[in-house]
This record gives sequence, structure tokens and C-alpha cells, in this order.
Amino acid sequence: MTTLRAIADRLDEVLRTREIPDYPTAVNGIQLENRSEIRSVAVAVDCSQKTIEGTVAAGANLLIVHHGLLWGGVQPIRGALYERLYRLLANDVAVYSSHLPLDAHPELGNNVLLAAKLGLVPNGGFARAQGTEIGVRGECALLTAEIVARADAFAKRHGGHALATDFDPSRTTRRWGICSGGGASAETLREAVTLGLDTLIVGEGPHWTAVDAPELGLAIIYAGHYATETLGVQALGQLVEREFGLPWRFIEAPTGL
Ligand SMILES: [Zn+2]
Repeated sequence: MTTLRAIADRLDEVLRTREIPDYPTAVNGIQLENRSEIRSVAVAVDCSQKTIEGTVAAGANLLIVHHGLLWGGVQPIRGALYERLYRLLANDVAVYSSHLPLDAHPELGNNVLLAAKLGLVPNGGFARAQGTEIGVRGECALLTAEIVARADAFAKRHGGHALATDFDPSRTTRRWGICSGGGASAETLREAVTLGLDTLIVGEGPHWTAVDAPELGLAIIYAGHYATETLGVQALGQLVEREFGLPWRFIEAPTGL
């Protein structure tokens, strides 16, 4: 018999949920309890009607996500939030969420695992957010176009595609940084320049980041917010299987972004 509490305590310990700071409206850890013991686990990037339906269809009663159910602070339970909660409660499905702690984890994190998928080996941290480096950086000698091609192939496996800012086809990437999700920001661009990085790999970013990038000596590769955050939750599924002997399934629900 495996309780939600036992799984959540272990995930909180591994992910250092209580130590890694996050945005004030992020709720890391258990977001919704259930009553029965956990028989099977679903993992997904987002907590949406689609992934909740996928969880129920898979016969799972714990949904582990990167973007949880609760954002934006106190709010009335109506509309889309009501529908999500109703489906979860009606099927006795618990929700566990891990945002920045999962981005930042040195083995199970979205950033370190994305680096591995792209054939890049990190040698340091990057993207300081709320006092913690949630991204990774490293060195290589690869054509930037080759990294774009690898990022595009990865994104396409998750219903997306990679875009990149303008760069010379013969350009070589020597110092790169990765920040998954909405990783192109004023802060990460500034940090990239300070660290002497030449290539930034992110999920997405505002239009102005593509305008500024060439003038800052940067190539930015936008591999998709969704795609770049598919890896951490799957690593958590593997951990739960390994340590608790429970089956798990990744509920793919691409957003197109
Ligand atoms: Zn995200």
C-alpha cells in the first residue's frame, strides 16, 4: 500500500521543495489530496482538462505536473478551475506539482535533462531566479545550426518546433546556457552577456529578445515552452516507479508553444 503522503514526502525531500524558493503564487508539493492509496501515476507538463482526462483514462489516481492547478493566488472556484477540480475530485485523483524545484534539480531537472537531450554537458549553473540558479550552462564547439537542428528534432517529438534568432550559418557555439520554459527574459539575457555566453537555449521569450539578441552577440534558440518542460516530470515518474514500484505514464498534451 502506497499513500500519497509517502510519495509526496519523498518527492519533497528529493526536490528540496521547502528550500528552493519560487514565485509567490506557485504552490509546490501536494496541491490536491485524495482518499485512496495510490495505484498508478500519471505525469504531465500542465494540469489541464486534457491531462486530467488522460489521467482518468489511464486509471491513475495521482497526477504529477510541472505547472500546477493553483496559480494567481486566491480565486473563486468557478469556470475552468471548477471543471478541473470537479473531474479530479469525482475520480479521487490527487495532484502534486513541482515548478522551480523541478527546473533546478541537478539530476531530475528540466534543464539538466534538456542539455543531455541536446548532447550538451553542463559545467555550471545559469538563470538565477528567486535566488537559485535554475538553469545550466556549459561549453562546446558545435555549429549553432547543429544545436538548432537538435532542438528542433526534440521539439517535434513533443508537437512543437524550434525557432532561432538570426545568425551566420558558419557560427560556432562555444558557451551556452539553458533555461527551460519562459527562459528568455531581461534577467537571463543580462546574465548571459555577463557570463560571456554566445548561445541561449530557452522554451520561449518575448519578441524583443529576438531583436536584441544579435546586438548582444547572442543566438537564442526557442525550443518551445511545452517541449522543454517535458523531461522533469518523466524523471519523477521513473523515480516513483523505482522507489514505490508503481506504474506511471506520461500524458502528452502539447500546447503548440
Ligand atoms: Zn514553465
